[in-house]
Amino acid sequence: MAEVNIQSGERPRLPMQGIPQPSREEVMHLPRVHISTHPVMRHKMTALRDKNTQPPDFYRLVKEIGALIAYEATSTLALEQTRIETPMMPMVGERLAGGIGVTPILRAGLGLAEGFREVIPDVQVWHLGLRRDEHTLEAMEYYNQLPHKVELQVCYAVDPMLATGGSAIDAINVLKKRSIPRLCYICIIAAPYGLLKLSQTHPDIDIYVAALDESLNDVGYILPGLGDAGDRQFGTF
Ligand code: URA
Repeated sequence: MAEVNIQSGERPRLPMQGIPQPSREEVMHLPRVHISTHPVMRHKMTALRDKNTQPPDFYRLVKEIGALIAYEATSTLALEQTRIETPMMPMVGERLAGGIGVTPILRAGLGLAEGFREVIPDVQVWHLGLRRDEHTLEAMEYYNQLPHKVELQVCYAVDPMLATGGSAIDAINVLKKRSIPRLCYICIIAAPYGLLKLSQTHPDIDIYVAALDESLNDVGYILPGLGDAGDRQFGTF
């Protein structure tokens, strides 16, 4: 929360205070933005948001939502043909062409990445630590385990909450330096403000969202949202 500046006696402005925000309607049809309409997703989202949902169930739900969104986000992956033999005869089958990377943005992205691995077990997981400065909301990199040599067809940056867009934009900037042919961003809940910023800054990526919420409060939390996605997954209240 904002502290009083002893010298001037003024309270510093809160990061989102007085900042105009777009409405849901203004951002929901942006190009390359995919918002889930799946009834099972909506059902799980309600359980996730409920303040009475405790960390073990919350984490399980994040993983399940991660698997559902992974299923939607991987529907356009490239395939290549491969010869196999069934017990009956030879045939030409298909397999995913090239590696798949998932970059969980630490720490809240971990559960979402686990859900992804349930759909595609042999994904490469590249951890990336970004933290928001509480006062400026700027994203700062504190951990980077991205390999130097990469041969992926796509990499998915995953983080449950797309709030102001700072960490999302930064994560995609980091991944763009790796010359991966295709990048996507996956989140559970997006605020219109962060979604617009990410889509305007990186118009060349696909953004998959489980739910689009109303707005950000003065300190940059999503409304109605679900609170702090990291604390709720890991029980650190
Ligand atoms: N991060 C969270 O965990 N929750 C929000 O509402 C915004 C950012």
